[in-house]
Amino acid sequence: MRTETIALHAGYQADKSVRSAAVPIHQTVSYEFDSADHAAALFNLEAEGFRYSRISNPTTAVLERRVAALEGGVGALCLGSGMAALYNAILCLAAPGRNLVSVPQLYGTTHTLLSHVLPRMNVSVRFACSDDADDIGRLIDDDTMAVFCESVGNPAGNVCDIEALAEIAHAHGVPLLVDNTVASPVLLRPIEFGADIVVHSLTKFLGGHGTTLGGAIVDGGQFPWHRQPGRFPMLNQPDASYHGLVYATHFGRTAYIEACRNFCLRTTGAALAPLSAFLLLQGVETVALRVERHVENARLVAEALQRDDRVDWVNYAGFPASPYYPLVQRYMAGRACSLLTFGVHGGMPAGKRFYDALRLIKRVVNLGDAKSLACHPASTTHRQMTPQQQIQAGVTPEMIRLSVGIEHVDDILADLDQALAAAHDGCLDPALVLREPG
Ligand SMILES: *Cc1c(COP(=O)(O)O)cnc(C)c1O
Repeated sequence: MRTETIALHAGYQADKSVRSAAVPIHQTVSYEFDSADHAAALFNLEAEGFRYSRISNPTTAVLERRVAALEGGVGALCLGSGMAALYNAILCLAAPGRNLVSVPQLYGTTHTLLSHVLPRMNVSVRFACSDDADDIGRLIDDDTMAVFCESVGNPAGNVCDIEALAEIAHAHGVPLLVDNTVASPVLLRPIEFGADIVVHSLTKFLGGHGTTLGGAIVDGGQFPWHRQPGRFPMLNQPDASYHGLVYATHFGRTAYIEACRNFCLRTTGAALAPLSAFLLLQGVETVALRVERHVENARLVAEALQRDDRVDWVNYAGFPASPYYPLVQRYMAGRACSLLTFGVHGGMPAGKRFYDALRLIKRVVNLGDAKSLACHPASTTHRQMTPQQQIQAGVTPEMIRLSVGIEHVDDILADLDQALAAAHDGCLDPALVLREPG
């Protein structure tokens, strides 16, 4: 099946007695056992079934199968937020003294997790000076547990060369972990290009309506964990909490995602609520259609901003002059993301006036909502970084980040136009003021 169809149908089969066409919300914490032996088999991971909703839930399981199918993975685990997904994905690989090698262009909170939280657990993070595979390769050593990148960096908009990064990671015997939030599986499926693990903030395009936090880890099922037992202890050493079960031998291709669920999520507890899984499924159903419109609107907005004298620069990977244009063709079938950044002429003061004058486009730190959103990364999402880290992450002081929504593009352009006018002369031109909807 193709993406559009998978998004609507994958992972759900109605209960025969009820035959609910929509996925039901299983608002329950626990599940009855037939007997003590049945419970014991479930707790030994010998029988399949549900025990407790911190570990798994039937509504969440539909979302997990659907996201796994969209990404082409062998299994997925949903969690309470994108950050929970990322933290647990790393925790499953980590051990004291290990290191993670990362590209520098990252979402702000991810940067904080990597540079301030992991080191407290004696896990170090080595940031390469660019997303180039050679720069990454130079930092990998015997203690490296994974290479990490965002397929499309937030907000830098850089497109990573997934095949090259997977190749260099695999040559050193480590997996490639990819945050695919900004691209979404509609535009890019990293596992097809060699990535081993994909994480998502479901909060963004997959949920798509800015109502619900959620995250997912997807296991590509290809990485040979068993070949390096010392390097990946969580997967190769007996898990004392399951009577000495060894994930790599017991589960084979799904070893990693089973360890994420039964060890990491079970003990760290950042479970997704079943109601949230249901709400996210409503979003997933239309993700392909929405992303198509997001992409088309973003192209028209980028072109309009590029033509506008009141704008100094536009960073959009869909321009043939962008260094990422060839990667957009190769990995995303020519469809650049709807996240773009630009600088208003007049620097930071003009940028602030522009931002304050927006009427339709919302001033929020979110992306991937059906509505158009704008943020000023230097003062919000990337505020904790030093100026030099900001530059490496692709954040400049005047930069405005737009997540172009699925409104009629004329209305988006009209709002940008009136805000640019306000930024320029400090007062609103009545002729440019956006008509109130309706
Ligand atoms: C938003 C975001 C996250 C974090 O997701 P939450 O659901 O807000 O926790 C992680 N990575 C990227 C690229 C994001 O845009």
